[in-house]
Amino acid sequence: MEENATVSENTSGLCRVHVINGRQKKLLAGHPWVYGNEIERVEGEPENGSLVEVVDYRGRYVGTGAYNANSLLTVRLLTQGHETIDDALIADRVRTACALRRYVLERPGTDCCRLIYGEADRLPGVIADRFGGVIVLQVLAMALERFTQVIADTLIACEKPDCLLLSNDDQIRRKEGMECFSRVLYGAMPEEVIVHENGIAISYDLLGGQKTGGFLDQKDNHLFVRQFCRDARVLDCFSYAGGFALNAAAAGAKEVTAVDISEGAVALIRRNAELNHARIDAVCANCFDFLREKVREKAQYDVIVLDPPAFTKAKANMASACRGYKEIALSAMRLLPKGGILATHSCSYHMPEETFVNTVVSAAQDLHRRVQILTLRRQDMDHPVLAGYPESHYLKSLWLRMID
Ligand code: SAH
Repeated sequence: MEENATVSENTSGLCRVHVINGRQKKLLAGHPWVYGNEIERVEGEPENGSLVEVVDYRGRYVGTGAYNANSLLTVRLLTQGHETIDDALIADRVRTACALRRYVLERPGTDCCRLIYGEADRLPGVIADRFGGVIVLQVLAMALERFTQVIADTLIACEKPDCLLLSNDDQIRRKEGMECFSRVLYGAMPEEVIVHENGIAISYDLLGGQKTGGFLDQKDNHLFVRQFCRDARVLDCFSYAGGFALNAAAAGAKEVTAVDISEGAVALIRRNAELNHARIDAVCANCFDFLREKVREKAQYDVIVLDPPAFTKAKANMASACRGYKEIALSAMRLLPKGGILATHSCSYHMPEETFVNTVVSAAQDLHRRVQILTLRRQDMDHPVLAGYPESHYLKSLWLRMID
């Protein structure tokens, strides 16, 4: 918006949220969130779950978004233009999101991907994942709730799934004042959901599993590990359903070990090994202990993958998160001989890429080992990063080679 634009008339009839001076800049640059502490005042009494107009300190229009005073993200912008936010606009955004995913779904042997990635697809708080014939939909923003049926109908029209599960039992909903429930909106849930990712069959537990049931953000990195795995001894730590381990086995690894602390995850790994006729040693253990134990045993691996859950969900825990990343990197490097490959991940947005790289590299320095950074990757592109909204880039994937 131009600096000298005049104060905009409130023609929409929506309540108006005035942001404090300075905070309009990030919004104009594409950031979709207004935090509660960025609001100077609210004109009118918007209901939670209603649409509001956001204006800057001088009353100039910035955008229109979803309001919820129960949420830290008090306004989530849907548009910075003067579009009407109605069923047609939401359906159009869903179709646009699905169109991008054609690229992913056209990969050979792939029938799973994230279809809608919230704000990055300009559908705040809306997540939809496709697992083979099943779509799992989640709506986490109150003002988007009324569009649930339109979103579901459009997903069904675009993707023609066998089943659509509305999985609205995320704790975020409770915090934001919405009820928690899961319901099949279309078709019937199959007894077992088996998806295909680059030719590998993966059984996921969509009802009892983690996230929406599977981690689709790592598909491309799962594939990337293959090139290092021929005849290799591979260790996949924090394996969940075995994504890295299964790809390692498919690439001709000599031995594959997959470790996860959750019994449910280990059961999935075993099931998936069987589905793919792969030999994988699935171990239920805390990876911190497992790695330490292997160091004591002086075990060796050629390739190690570390993919822990987010060690920090807040900036305040950064130091302890760094210690966690460093500890597992230290152990892993001790287990890797000269030429060994380490792929290590952080899925916490709060961990900046540079800090993460420095933390892992400092582990090598402590061990007086030299390493090469082969590449720095991120989440697969069905989790696109919206320019101006750095929170949408959360996954860091660092690939190192031990020089000596
Ligand atoms: N690598 C997986 C995703 C991992 S998600 C993939 O590519 O699909 C993180 C996993 O770490 C979860 O399955 C969780 O059960 C497991 N986990 C969490 N803390 C752990 C710990 N201390 N030791 C071992 N596994 C742990």
